[in-house]
Amino acid sequence: MTLEISNLDVSIGNIPILRDVSLSVPSGKMFGLIGHNGAGKTTLMRAIMGLLDADQGTITFDGQDLRKTADFARAKAGISYMPEDRRLIPSLTVEENILLPAWTNGIKDAEERLKWVYDLLPEIAQFRDRRALQLSGGQQKLVSLGRALMPGRNLLLLDEPFEGVAPVLSRRLSEVISDLGSSGLCVLISESDDTHSADLVAGSYRIERGTVSKAGLETA
Ligand code: ATP
Repeated sequence: MTLEISNLDVSIGNIPILRDVSLSVPSGKMFGLIGHNGAGKTTLMRAIMGLLDADQGTITFDGQDLRKTADFARAKAGISYMPEDRRLIPSLTVEENILLPAWTNGIKDAEERLKWVYDLLPEIAQFRDRRALQLSGGQQKLVSLGRALMPGRNLLLLDEPFEGVAPVLSRRLSEVISDLGSSGLCVLISESDDTHSADLVAGSYRIERGTVSKAGLETA
């Protein structure tokens, strides 16, 4: 199962944001997507998730054309996204937030997935009945990761997971992401530099002003 992006162009309104982006993330590998603020990392992840339309190019996962895949089918294919800004629903409990993608996308083994998420992140199991608005920013990051893991059994896109996170929690996030890497998931992690992702990934792509540099690919 490989994520393959070829010659992708994406505009927001009339403004071209991504130009001729090509990259590949093979099954069971974690790759970094490194670029400064405004380079286009979020735009690329949103395009993979179908939240933005592409002008041209191809995005496939395991041979499936993601440009023609509906949201629920994407979730059923095990593809998921952890947005940079968490986007939890403040009035819902932690558990309701985590279960939401399973409910909206009709994921059948939600109970087993939830148990797996709690095993991986026992700290969020502790406050499963608390409303999201009662959590610290760092705790919300972990819940956001837990929610992404509900559908995300094959491909996980992590948009700046370490941004704004205190050092202790960064170490914990690194541990969890590293555990995920050994479970066969295909993971793309964006970061403004490779401070946290360098030890986790098999290689990195560099994105600058909407262009991914193949020369920037370093394979560990
Ligand atoms: P950041 O960490 O700052 O979010 P990023 O690498 O994720 O950086 P993007 O958010 O993808 O970058 O933004 C890429 C470019 O697209 C930037 O120049 C940004 O200003 C522009 N952009 C993003 N969203 C919009 C929008 N809704 N309307 C217009 N331009 C946008």
